[in-house]
Amino acid sequence: MSRERYEMVVGLEVHVQLKTRTKAFCGCSTDFGAPPNVNTCPVCLGLPGALPVLNERAVELATRAALGLGCRVNPVSIFARKNYFYPDLPKGYQISQFDQPLATGGSVAIGKNETGADVQIGITRLHMEEDAGKSIHDRYPGATAIDLNRAGVPLIEIVSEPDIRTSADAGAYLRTLKQILQYLDVSDVSMEEGSLRVDANISVRPLGQAKLGTKTEVKNMNSFSAVERALEAEFERQCALLDSGGRVEQQTLLWDGARETVRPSRTKEGSHDYRYFPEPDLRPLMLDEKWVGDARNHLPELPEARKMRLIQQYGIPAAGITGTGSMAIPVPSIAGTGLSPTEVEQLTATPALAEYFEAVARASGDGKAAYNWVMGEVLAVLHASGGDIAHFRVRPADLAQLLNLVRDGTISHTAAKRVFALMVETGKQPAQVAADEGLLQVGDEGAIATWVDEVLREHPEEATRYLAGEKKLQGVLVGFVMKKSKGRADPKRVNQLLSARGG
Ligand SMILES: [Zn+2]
Repeated sequence: MSRERYEMVVGLEVHVQLKTRTKAFCGCSTDFGAPPNVNTCPVCLGLPGALPVLNERAVELATRAALGLGCRVNPVSIFARKNYFYPDLPKGYQISQFDQPLATGGSVAIGKNETGADVQIGITRLHMEEDAGKSIHDRYPGATAIDLNRAGVPLIEIVSEPDIRTSADAGAYLRTLKQILQYLDVSDVSMEEGSLRVDANISVRPLGQAKLGTKTEVKNMNSFSAVERALEAEFERQCALLDSGGRVEQQTLLWDGARETVRPSRTKEGSHDYRYFPEPDLRPLMLDEKWVGDARNHLPELPEARKMRLIQQYGIPAAGITGTGSMAIPVPSIAGTGLSPTEVEQLTATPALAEYFEAVARASGDGKAAYNWVMGEVLAVLHASGGDIAHFRVRPADLAQLLNLVRDGTISHTAAKRVFALMVETGKQPAQVAADEGLLQVGDEGAIATWVDEVLREHPEEATRYLAGEKKLQGVLVGFVMKKSKGRADPKRVNQLLSARGG
């Protein structure tokens, strides 16, 4: 089989649950994990005579998302009924937007190609809609249960142009989109809780051919890596089909992660005619130009802008520029004095992480040390405990204080790690913890000399070899002294004393 002769063409539809307290068209709570069917009312149950009222907050968040993705927000958009029957859709239709969506025409930059140009994935449209309920098939043997807590929860659907050419680019697009939505603070974007869902449209065409092939839709992927694997599997399947002279049939497929394969969906969703028509119970959504302008002016700082700013503030200082004009090449300065672009990239992965880092860096005045601690000790503790940084017990100001204690020599780096562990446990201030634990650094000659003598006595073999001139053992002996002193000895003094003993 020759997949090298074909090109993959992919467009993604991403459903994102907006971070509202209540549903899109009624006052029911959107809380995740409530007992089944508790968060329901006549409107979201579709009882006769109940009328929807549009949630203003949902419109705000949807507009913010559209602006953050560079879309044009339409002054008038229309809610429509998308009619289909499904047990978890009590009204018999879903309120969505069809030919006049909230926003059109944005883009997401997913990185650079081999020539250094930005790779942009176009966004066709962004529209508002409500979620359906949930059918539960595995709770009661032989029966299906319905939970309508999700019915009516506000969503946006973000439809990309068919600009994606590889499964890796699909993954990059999804990760970038998720990060932008996090920075915009419009959604929890959690695939586990269903607040971000992805459907993929994929077709295959011979390389060099402009005309698009017949596409299939792949659903049921529960992670970004599952999307990438499903696209690969479906690409292989379509290539093999075309190679053998067959034709791709337009259909909906379900990803089967356990078997690493796609299988046809039992419902013929792809061929549905939904018979959309304008929702008669909701007026057209009219957005004032000034209101949209205000929303645009109040957009939060987005990931790219934050990266650029942090590189300026904390990046490796440019040591100079060689060459002139377009041939100018920035010369990297000494390592260790600032953050590399890769390090800034890591720190800006989520807004909460960037927030925390910046607070520590500001309060300590040392971006590099802040980076080392946040990416090292802080993330290690959070990974181990499953906590999230926004609610981390050690506040940035306290961590900054710890960094300052290390910098001015009050405690050693080794002792600082112990102090940090105790700060995590107790929530106490670093100076207090260091004093309580007797971890304040000892620069006193007498005390250090005693530790050095003890170490030389306890390790006669290393001592003899060191004193006979084996200089490289000094580091080992310093290590023993640091251990004996529980990190309190000033390593510089220890080195001086050992050198003086004769090595
Ligand atoms: Zn309701």
